[in-house]
Amino acid sequence: MAGNISQSQDFIVVGAGIVGAMTAYRLVSEGYSVLLVDKGPPGGQASRAAAGILSPSAESGPSQPFFELLQRSFLLYPALIQKIEERSHMSVDLNQSGVIQAALDEKEEARLESLYRWQKERINLKWLTPAEIADLEPDMKHARAAIYAPEEMQVHAPKLVQAVIRAGHEERLTSRFGISVQHLIVEDRRVWGVKTSEGQYFAEKAVVLAAGAWNPFLLADLGDRFEIPIKPIKGQVLSLTADIMPMHHIVFARHRYVVPKPDGRFIVGATEDDTGFDDRVKVGGVAALTGALDDFGPRIRHMQWDTAWAGLRPMAPDGLPVLGVWPQWDGLFVAGGHFRNGILLSAVTADLVVDWAQNGTLPPEAFSPQRFKTSSRNDSTP
Ligand SMILES: Cc1cc2nc3c(=O)[nH]c(=O)nc-3n(C[C@H](O)[C@H](O)[C@H](O)COP(=O)(O)OP(=O)(O)OC[C@H]3O[C@@H](n4cnc5c(N)ncnc54)[C@H](O)[C@@H]3O)c2cc1C
Repeated sequence: MAGNISQSQDFIVVGAGIVGAMTAYRLVSEGYSVLLVDKGPPGGQASRAAAGILSPSAESGPSQPFFELLQRSFLLYPALIQKIEERSHMSVDLNQSGVIQAALDEKEEARLESLYRWQKERINLKWLTPAEIADLEPDMKHARAAIYAPEEMQVHAPKLVQAVIRAGHEERLTSRFGISVQHLIVEDRRVWGVKTSEGQYFAEKAVVLAAGAWNPFLLADLGDRFEIPIKPIKGQVLSLTADIMPMHHIVFARHRYVVPKPDGRFIVGATEDDTGFDDRVKVGGVAALTGALDDFGPRIRHMQWDTAWAGLRPMAPDGLPVLGVWPQWDGLFVAGGHFRNGILLSAVTADLVVDWAQNGTLPPEAFSPQRFKTSSRNDSTP
């Protein structure tokens, strides 16, 4: 496809992280023509950094709408992955490892107990005693109690992005990588397309903004009094290896987690650093993670160093995703703010975009961009 010419398709999706890629794939699966654009390689930002955990139980407190969103996405995963793997001829290492949330002190035990009471009405969970924990994971025998979600899973996040795009290319997905979207093309309160570093592209139906932590830069083109204060929160992660895996489940303890990967790596995550767009690994981040290793038993210290990496999670002030149309504008859907759960939530996000495209149905209000409405900018009337 040549640059500097105007081209049109049903949808343009800005950002080929997991959210944009999955959305583009689902739209083409429904018969729409889609252009997926990224300024870098696909999955080159937050989605490359993710540990790939798919765990509604560990990632939601007792919050009905958020928990339901996570769980709805989780339930979509097995069938969705089967289709993606078939069409892409790739494996994304979907693995039902199960998730253990371990309490190492009294306060955490109380928090987990109340979470368990709320969640067990909604999903399959078990409350584990120390002896039961030791049966599953001998290295966690020092834990006081735990929540166990046996059905929860993980994927290989970078492979997933690649497979989703390959599967999309089997349908009517066109992609342009290495070109930056500089502006939204706007007129008469409608978004018509995007101006990129290689020319303009127009969307018959809508532009879907899935640019992760960079979404606010493009939304600024609307010049409205709505602001989405999404910001980057850096997550740093370590990868270790060993001849024998010390654990087989994904285990959370004291805000850190370990993820045994089917390919022999052992991921230790993750920090949450409010340090702007700097995505470099820092010694302090590595120290924070190695300092937590003893919480996961004695054997991790003897594992071999593999590597470390970091990525920028897109976070809204309330930590919830931002999903929906932009108030009083046509032709734009915002899919952002997925923070700690973009891999898990990509499935439901794509479903919500398809629902909106086909039926005009909007996502649940709790995630609407409307919640960031401010009256300050451009609103000088009394
Ligand atoms: C250390 C770490 C561990 C994590 N672990 C998990 C986990 O276990 N499970 C889970 O569900 N989630 C996890 N997450 C969160 C998850 O990675 C993110 O929520 C998710 O990747 C966000 O996806 P995204 O597509 O919105 O953003 P991104 O992956 O950042 O993609 C946005 C894309 O937009 C592109 N872009 C930006 N501006 C422009 C522009 N102007 N023009 C063109 N392209 C543009 C970027 O190049 C980028 O590729 C983790 C995150 C981190 C950092």
